[in-house]
Amino acid sequence: MQTIRLGSGNLVSSRLAYGCWRIARSADAAADLATARRAVLAAIDAGYTLFDHADIYCDGRAETSFGAVLRETPSLRNNLLIATKCGIRFAAGSNTPYRYDLSAEHIIGSCDESLRRLGVETIDIYQLHRPDFLIDAEEVSRAFDELHRAGKVHEFGVSNFSPSQLALLQGAARWPLVVNQVEISLLQLSSLGDGTLDQCQAEKITPLAWSPLGGGLLADGPVDILAPQRAYQPAQIVALLDEMAQARGTSRMVLALAWLLRHPAGIVPIVGSTEPGRIAAAVEATQIELSRDEWYRLLTIARGVPLP
Ligand code: NAP
Repeated sequence: MQTIRLGSGNLVSSRLAYGCWRIARSADAAADLATARRAVLAAIDAGYTLFDHADIYCDGRAETSFGAVLRETPSLRNNLLIATKCGIRFAAGSNTPYRYDLSAEHIIGSCDESLRRLGVETIDIYQLHRPDFLIDAEEVSRAFDELHRAGKVHEFGVSNFSPSQLALLQGAARWPLVVNQVEISLLQLSSLGDGTLDQCQAEKITPLAWSPLGGGLLADGPVDILAPQRAYQPAQIVALLDEMAQARGTSRMVLALAWLLRHPAGIVPIVGSTEPGRIAAAVEATQIELSRDEWYRLLTIARGVPLP
C-alpha cells in the first residue's frame, strides 16, 4: 500500500489505517481473540501498518486482544505502528460522572495500562482522545516529556480537538502534535469548514478520519451504534456512490474512502470493518484519484444543499 509521513514527525504509515474499536466486542476472551486475529492479520496482509486503539475500546479488551495477537507472532511488532488514546473516563457511581481527564496523573497512568494490555514497550502515537475542558496545557506538556523520556511514547497527537484547542496545547508542548483524529466522511463534513483541515494542512498535522464510512451507514452494512443520536439521511449519498461506483467498476465503500483520500491535507481514513474481505477490498481506494468534478458531485449531495 502507498505510505504517508504522519505530520512533521518521523513516522511513516500506510495510506489507510486500521481501527481496532470493534475487534473485541463479545466479552468472551477466546471469541475476541479469534475476531482480533482474523481482522488484524487480514489488515497486515493487505498492507496496513498503522493500528488505532484507545484505552476504552471494548473496555480495554481491544488492546488486550491485539496484544495477544502480537504475542503469538512477536515479529509482527517490528513493522507496525501502534496508536492509542487516553482521556475519556467512564462513570463509576453517582459521584463519579462520565468525564474527560487530561491530568498528568491520568495520562501517565493510562499509558502504563495500555502498554501492559498491548504487551509492548512503546506506543508509537499517543493521542488525547477528547479535549478536557479543564486542560492545563503546561501540565499535559510535562506528562508528554515524562512519557517520552521514559521511552514509553514516540510521538503525540490529539483527537476531536478544535483548531483553537490544538493551538493551545501545541503552544505549550515541546513535541509536535502529529495527528488530529476527527470524524470525517460524506456524513460528517464539519472539518472541511471549521478550520480543522486548514490547520492540518498549514501546520503539517495529519488528519486521521474516524468512522470514514459513517460507522457502516455508507457501506452495505449494519447501522452504526451511534445512529440513533444522528440526524442524517444517507440514502441519496449512497445512491450517487453506487452510480459512480458502477461507472468506475468499483464499490461504494471504495469510493467513499477515495473521496477522503483526495483531500490535499492528506487524510488517513481509519478503516473499521472486522471482515477480512472488506479490510482488503478497501485498499483499492488508494489506487483511485477522483476528479474534481466527481469530488464536488459527492460533496454537493452530502451537503444536501447547493454550494453558495
Ligand atoms: P467505519 O469504517 O465507518 O465503520 C465500520 C463499520 O461499518 C463496521 O461495523 C463494519 O461492519 C461496517 N462496514 C464497513 N464496510 C462495510 C461493507 N462494505 N459492508 C457492510 N458493512 C461494512 O469505521 P468505524 O469502525 O466506525 O471507525 C473506525 C475507527 O475509527 C475505529 O476502529 C477507531 O479506531 C476510530 N474511532 C475513533 C473515534 C474517536 O473519537 N477518536 C471514534 C470512533 C471511531 P463489519 O465489521 O461487519 O465489516
